[in-house]
Amino acid sequence: MVLDAAEQIADKMLRPLLTEMDRNEPQLVDGKIRVHEGMKAIMRRFGEDGWINATFRYEEGGQQLPVTVHNAAAFIFQAANYSASVYPFLTTGAANLIRSFGSSELIDTYTPNMYNGRWQGTMALTEPNAGSSLSDISTSAEPTETAGIYKIQGQKIFISCGDHDACENVVHLLLAKIKGGPAGTKGISLFVVPQQRVTTEGLVPNDVTTAGVYHKMGYKGAPIAHLMFGSDAECFGYLVGEEHKGLSYMFQMMNEARVGVGTNAAAIGTAAYHASLAYAKERPQGRPIVAKDPTQPQTLIIHHADVKRMLLFQKSVVEGSLSLLLQCGLWSDIAQVAEGADKERAELLLDLLTPIAKSYPSEMCCQTTSAAVQILGGAGYTTDFSLEQFYREARIHPIHEGTTGIHGLDLLGRKISLRGGKAVQYFMAEIAHTITLAKAISEDPRLAAWAVQLEKALLKVQQVTGHLLAIAPQNVEAFLADATLYLELFGITTIAWQWLKQAIEATKELAQTIADSETHFYQGKVATASYFFEYELVKTTALAKRLLSHNRTTIEMQPEWF
Ligand SMILES: Cc1cc2nc3c(=O)[nH]c(=O)nc-3n(C[C@H](O)[C@H](O)[C@H](O)COP(=O)(O)OP(=O)(O)OC[C@H]3O[C@@H](n4cnc5c(N)ncnc54)[C@H](O)[C@@H]3O)c2cc1C
Repeated sequence: MVLDAAEQIADKMLRPLLTEMDRNEPQLVDGKIRVHEGMKAIMRRFGEDGWINATFRYEEGGQQLPVTVHNAAAFIFQAANYSASVYPFLTTGAANLIRSFGSSELIDTYTPNMYNGRWQGTMALTEPNAGSSLSDISTSAEPTETAGIYKIQGQKIFISCGDHDACENVVHLLLAKIKGGPAGTKGISLFVVPQQRVTTEGLVPNDVTTAGVYHKMGYKGAPIAHLMFGSDAECFGYLVGEEHKGLSYMFQMMNEARVGVGTNAAAIGTAAYHASLAYAKERPQGRPIVAKDPTQPQTLIIHHADVKRMLLFQKSVVEGSLSLLLQCGLWSDIAQVAEGADKERAELLLDLLTPIAKSYPSEMCCQTTSAAVQILGGAGYTTDFSLEQFYREARIHPIHEGTTGIHGLDLLGRKISLRGGKAVQYFMAEIAHTITLAKAISEDPRLAAWAVQLEKALLKVQQVTGHLLAIAPQNVEAFLADATLYLELFGITTIAWQWLKQAIEATKELAQTIADSETHFYQGKVATASYFFEYELVKTTALAKRLLSHNRTTIEMQPEWF
């Protein structure tokens, strides 16, 4: 029911605006960002239907929707119109921070209008000199006479939905440093900084001004703003939780947002895959290699092996990614309801795989959307088809919510050693379990063969991890120099695991008596698993070879040699 409801809104409200929102990007007019007029109705609808707080508890007006289901619904919205989907889900993340760490007064003052879609929520972290390195933010907070209220001064850039006219107010969840606090990340605190603050006289301007709107490469329907806080020293911020703990609170939102970004990428990749698939089924061009008779009609391009390769590439990446993302949703749900060892296991697995769930789809869907453009040939390069838009929209995902480089450092530098390597042990045990299941299935001998391939890949990951961890104490630069390649190796292996799981289920279904359409669906799954093991997993051999090498080209190369 939830997914059907999501599909209806996606079909009726979001998809029809996909191209229009791309062609009519937000404009800054008289200090206010104007967005597509359809966004107002979309925000209200998301609010009225309870999508913004769907996963929150009944007592808070939520629906206690499992994260897994919510993420699947979000995937549908994102595939329909990524720009439009950004507004409500940013609000969800911001409201979640207030309800998790804010005082009851903050919760009562700000969240109801965020839940109903009238007020926008944002995350305001980035500054001109502090992007990847948040410890360098300089926005300041000065205590006032009232406890918990501070004067905010500074500027933030690239703030998604940071100002627009589809909502009545904007609530920024902003990172700033309290004057006199510790240096670096330990001195960062979190504040609610409304564009208009709530007073007994109603809403009053809070000295937050919009200095500019950026012109982006893709998802042009959602604005990113350059904001000034406290230019007239009249900007008030309300402390969330305790002083100096802001970054750890913000990590909650960022971790959710990271799985969300992976989902966005997979959703855009999926939209491009289906558009290119439809085209390949209709476009006649060339003749089969084995029947080149010019008097015969041309064949449809879907019959060419190379076109099928490009379709399989897309299908294997987007469906493998979706599988991992739903797996993350499940761990997130288990972490909320389970206790003891089960809770710890789910939390650690989610923590370990968040950089993969963010980065694998993000990086790979830049490539899959490119393959989708390629399938359309020249038509793919024109604005007559939506493929060029998907290609542009996919490109943001390796950049925001931590660049791929930063996630590589996070995985290798931090997550691998999490709780003495316990997270990795759980991960290995999960995969070993799937391998055992696959080997026990006799209906299709390929499953056991793929299980062996995955076992070998896993051994490579272990070997590389051991090798790199051994280097770390003497040479930390060499340890982390190729962290992005390590992330790639880990990511491909993780997605191969997801494909083995899917192949097991598909093989079981194919052993039953099922309708033709279902047979095709499951045969497609097994064929795509085959593609992944034959064409993608093999890439881990080269990556492992590089990661085990003692060559230090990237460290030794000097800036002046370029
Ligand atoms: C469309 C869009 C929406 C955004 N939305 C928001 C938002 O809502 N809120 C918000 O706060 N921010 C937002 N951002 C900002 C975004 O999170 C940052 O752009 C991102 O974190 C990268 O920071 P940067 O742009 O300063 O790049 P830099 O940090 O300057 O990075 C440049 C390059 O250097 C690499 N690099 C940097 N440091 C290291 C290192 N230590 N080791 C190895 N490599 C490194 C990076 O990987 C990258 O390739 C948005 C950005 C865009 C483009």
